[in-house]
Amino acid sequence: MQKLRTQVGIVGAGPAGLVLSHLLHLEGIDSIVLENRSRQYVQERVRAGVLEQGTVDLLTQMGVGDRLRKEGLVHYGIELRFRGRGHRIDFRELTGGKGITIYAQAEVVKDLNDARIAAGGQVFFDVEDVRPCDFDTSEPKIRYQKDGDEYELACDFVAGCDGFHGICRPSIPAGVLTEYEREYPFGWLGILADAAPSAEELVYCYHDHGFALLSMRTSQIGRLYLQCKPDEDLTQWSDEKIWQELQLRLASDGWKLTEGPVLQKGVTGMRSFVVEPMQYGRLFLAGDSAHIVPPTGAKGLNLAVADVQVLARGLTQFYKTGSQDFLNQYSQVCLRRVWKVQRFSWWMTSMLHRFPEGNPFDERRQLAELDYVTSSRPAATTLAENYVGLPMEWS
Ligand SMILES: Cc1cc2nc3c(=O)[nH]c(=O)nc-3n(C[C@H](O)[C@H](O)[C@H](O)COP(=O)(O)OP(=O)(O)OC[C@H]3O[C@@H](n4cnc5c(N)ncnc54)[C@H](O)[C@@H]3O)c2cc1C
Repeated sequence: MQKLRTQVGIVGAGPAGLVLSHLLHLEGIDSIVLENRSRQYVQERVRAGVLEQGTVDLLTQMGVGDRLRKEGLVHYGIELRFRGRGHRIDFRELTGGKGITIYAQAEVVKDLNDARIAAGGQVFFDVEDVRPCDFDTSEPKIRYQKDGDEYELACDFVAGCDGFHGICRPSIPAGVLTEYEREYPFGWLGILADAAPSAEELVYCYHDHGFALLSMRTSQIGRLYLQCKPDEDLTQWSDEKIWQELQLRLASDGWKLTEGPVLQKGVTGMRSFVVEPMQYGRLFLAGDSAHIVPPTGAKGLNLAVADVQVLARGLTQFYKTGSQDFLNQYSQVCLRRVWKVQRFSWWMTSMLHRFPEGNPFDERRQLAELDYVTSSRPAATTLAENYVGLPMEWS
């Protein structure tokens, strides 16, 4: 067995793991990131694309914001469309000038990988059989295999940034974590299309046939979604049928949806999930390994980044002063934000989707809620301040 040592062993090279590794590097703390997929795979995975103002500011401060500033699309509002009419929520006016940036998660991961490698950082791709152990002692280890050889990475702390299906959360002994979960009776059928977006800002649409979302990756590539069954059979959805349904749900007087070749399509399930606490001994869970939100609020990536900011601050305090005070509060500090973001994501999802068990009363209530949010300044402000991102809290 080959032995290595670092200060913080990080499992997973998604946004959480890479942001954490780079934040630690900027504080002079060593880390090694272990990722079971290839670099190409993680850089091409199609996922989130909406960055909160705070995420953009952080990436910029970390020195990984150059391409994001050049290529990202800054939006200062979204449209809520129902009964065939659009209503704009003006973020800039309602939040004192804040906005969001459209920049694909894959590009964020690419920029972070480039920055880690340029700084001499160690990100090991294609590792296998990762096993965190001894994290209930002061000498945790992560065992893994690479190219058929067995390795043991000794470290002071383990960061479980390995997503919902990762190995870190299940490594925590039974009975320690409490799970809170809600599954939704629908999913999203999403496409990437070689079609310039037909609106400058995102359009969230409530329709009798179900929710639809017009989003984008760039000014040339559209990203569009349809509410569907959680186990929707994609083979039943030709490109033509998808466009037909998008045309129907998004229709609005005097507005035209531009179509184009479908580059990629997939179905995403929707769930809300949280574990408490987010730490056990010297193992800290961050990002999707600790919580999942339905994508309606565009929060998954942003929440992962918020977690690792808290973790980086705790680890920095430890290495600078020897104190674990802030690390001991990691879970508590993160969960305050996690639950507010869960609430917002659940609320947006509940307001905009058709529930299979819904009845005419529920539908009237949803429409009244949309009418209220788009006609009351305080209600619109609530949506806006959550969408652009709540301020970080450190206690
Ligand atoms: C299909 C899909 C579509 C999504 N769309 C949206 C969206 O439109 N909007 C939105 O806001 N959010 C979306 N999300 C959520 C968002 O992408 C996540 O919240 C975000 O990726 C969380 O980052 P993370 O670093 O915590 O986890 P991840 O990005 O999942 O990164 C975890 C990393 O750990 C690696 N890993 C897993 N297991 C192991 C192991 N055993 N050993 C080593 N490495 C391991 C994985 O390969 C991965 O690279 C989507 C998620 C999915 C799955």
